[in-house]
Amino acid sequence: MTDTHTLTQNDPTQGGAPRGADRQLQDEIVKAVCDALLPALEPPADALGDPVLEAYYRDGAVARGIDVAVAAAVPTLDATLRRAIAGLAEHLAAAGFLDAGADAGADADADAGRRIELLRAAGDASLTHRNAVRQLKSMAMGTFVNAVDESGTNPVWPAIGYGPLTYRPATPGETPKNLRVETPQPGDEVVLTADVVVVGSGAGGGVIAARAAEAGLSVIVLDAGPHVVDAKRTQHGAEGGPLFLGRGGLFSETGQMGILAGSAVGGGTLINSMVSLRPPQKIRELWASEGLEGLDGPEFDALLDRVWSRLGVNTEASHHNANTRAMITGLAELGYRHERLPRNFVADGVSEFCPFCAEGCTHQQGYRASTVVTYLDDAVASGARIFAGAWVDRVIAADGRASGVVGSIETADGPRPLRVDAPTVVVAAGGIESPALLLRSGIGGPAVGRNLRLHPAWIVTGVYDEAIEAWHGQIQSAVSFDLTEVVDGEGFLVESLSLNIGSWAGLSPLADGRTARDRMRSFDRYATWHGVAHDHGAGRIVLDEEGRAALIWDLDDDIDYRVGVRAHQELARMHRAAGAKEIFTFLWRDLRWRDGEDFEAFLEALAAEPPRDHLAMSAHQMGSCRLGSDPAVSVADGRGQLHDVAGVWIGDASALPTAPGVNPMITVMAVAERTAEALVGTAAPATTAAATAHASAREAD
Ligand SMILES: Cc1cc2nc3c(=O)[nH]c(=O)nc-3n(C[C@H](O)[C@H](O)[C@H](O)COP(=O)(O)OP(=O)(O)OC[C@H]3O[C@@H](n4cnc5c(N)ncnc54)[C@H](O)[C@@H]3O)c2cc1C
Repeated sequence: MTDTHTLTQNDPTQGGAPRGADRQLQDEIVKAVCDALLPALEPPADALGDPVLEAYYRDGAVARGIDVAVAAAVPTLDATLRRAIAGLAEHLAAAGFLDAGADAGADADADAGRRIELLRAAGDASLTHRNAVRQLKSMAMGTFVNAVDESGTNPVWPAIGYGPLTYRPATPGETPKNLRVETPQPGDEVVLTADVVVVGSGAGGGVIAARAAEAGLSVIVLDAGPHVVDAKRTQHGAEGGPLFLGRGGLFSETGQMGILAGSAVGGGTLINSMVSLRPPQKIRELWASEGLEGLDGPEFDALLDRVWSRLGVNTEASHHNANTRAMITGLAELGYRHERLPRNFVADGVSEFCPFCAEGCTHQQGYRASTVVTYLDDAVASGARIFAGAWVDRVIAADGRASGVVGSIETADGPRPLRVDAPTVVVAAGGIESPALLLRSGIGGPAVGRNLRLHPAWIVTGVYDEAIEAWHGQIQSAVSFDLTEVVDGEGFLVESLSLNIGSWAGLSPLADGRTARDRMRSFDRYATWHGVAHDHGAGRIVLDEEGRAALIWDLDDDIDYRVGVRAHQELARMHRAAGAKEIFTFLWRDLRWRDGEDFEAFLEALAAEPPRDHLAMSAHQMGSCRLGSDPAVSVADGRGQLHDVAGVWIGDASALPTAPGVNPMITVMAVAERTAEALVGTAAPATTAAATAHASAREAD
């Protein structure tokens, strides 16, 4: 039993993290939150006699050590989240949260329910508290369903219909192409020299690295993420986490926008859904009019064709899984059309080998034509060097000219300082991290970090009678364009998406412990689709108190809000038409329709949800270092070079002037091809040594 507690004022120099006794109290509250979310429960009648189901209910967060693990992980979160969790802990302490669970032994359901109500009230009162509740819930529930033991399995999986793992790991013969990624030798500081240093190895960075190396420039590619040796992976849900920025747990300051972005050698191309769409002509014309000369014409068509061909984009290898088939049924029932999606998936007849495609491809020879097996491979073949675990902190520039980058690099004996001397720097760290890098470096001008476009994705889930296993098979293979202009000329694509059980456990509306456990038993019957909106408003990247990227995004644009409402309603209609027996969303309130209930009332309830109660997800971060002719509103000129620093180029999704309104990988790569042409035209090999290294690498091929 604990009295009402108050946390003292947080020390701002600690990034909002509590210290000493406050830290102990925060840990106690975080553990109690985990216990409330995942209480020890009496198994229900239908679980009795089944040891797996009995344990599923009986062993909650405490029995499984989840409470301790989550409390220990909080200090590793970014400053915004740590501050939010400290604030929530302070609030809950004052609200008597610890006392509310004191007699849990007597009636666990009731006590956990009381604490859930306190969590709900905290989230109602403040968006920052809500962000913290959602984060703790994602960590606790995500661990519950995703953590694996030494044998690579999780005992709750049979209870929630997940797995068993049917994947046949790739044989060494199937992984002939292992990209050469270097690790520095032991020593003090790592100092390297190149003509071009590329920060980020994803869609944009990969392309520019290849083209610069092929042009005879010495190239070093640095990526903060790991290099994944695919053949060694087992590919269950939890393995995807480390390949994402912030391990997939990144949210805007008020928690209204969740971010999914790749962070590994290959960037987003390693884990994305491979949807390959060209930018609409009207967007190309808009961008051309804003200083991206020629983007609306045949020159850019040729670059799009070049990317298309290097990635082997095709529709023949796009096969619909049960999730997408249900979506197509829903669309057809409502009279909406759909198309088979082109994708950069280059082997046919292998869908049965790839049930967990969303966790990264295990076939290096190229089922998924990520940059690892395409452009980065081309770059290395032309002499480029790639380093993983290489975090770039700042671009070094003096007198309006770049001279390299500094940061740190992981080695066998821990992280070490890193410096790369290079007259040309390509910033390709993605839409979240590229502006942060420029802000830390104090370059790029007033537009850095502004104009962030996110393609807000609105997610609606249907629960069906039959098994869907939305984690199984190809992630996305169909799209409908019929709703792209439904609200004042704006709208959304309809696409299916893969079900990550950790994400759904974490982001589904808050419910008492028993209801949440009951609901997760239906995971295998969930069909999951989203409306990917063309954003009208914009967000912003700023630096937090530790110099790391912080995302500001609120649903404060009326058109974006109305598109969000319409997306929820249309997806709900589709689920109902496809035969769903229950429908729910990721909105804060637990809005839910069940078969037999008034569906029109449900649609009205969706429309009545205020903007603050919406939650969007973004897998597409763009525009935050936009190209353009006006330095007041753009960061780099129409070809990609910074307005204020010669030799620094923007090479990734952050360069796009607005959102394209379609999945952006192909557009990012084609714009990067265009930037590479300009860069190669201005950067000459600096040293004979560089040219020699390049020549010998080609000869060795
Ligand atoms: C789950 C998911 C599904 C998607 N599905 C699709 C799809 O089907 N079709 C589509 O067109 N698009 C899709 N996308 C989006 C697409 O993958 C991205 O738009 C694209 O990869 C962006 O390219 P980029 O070069 O801007 O950055 P990224 O590809 O994200 O690469 C940036 C790289 O920079 C590294 N980095 C970041 N900061 C630093 C630093 N300071 N120092 C060093 N390295 C750093 C990161 O580790 C990362 O590897 C998806 C994205 C996700 C996350």
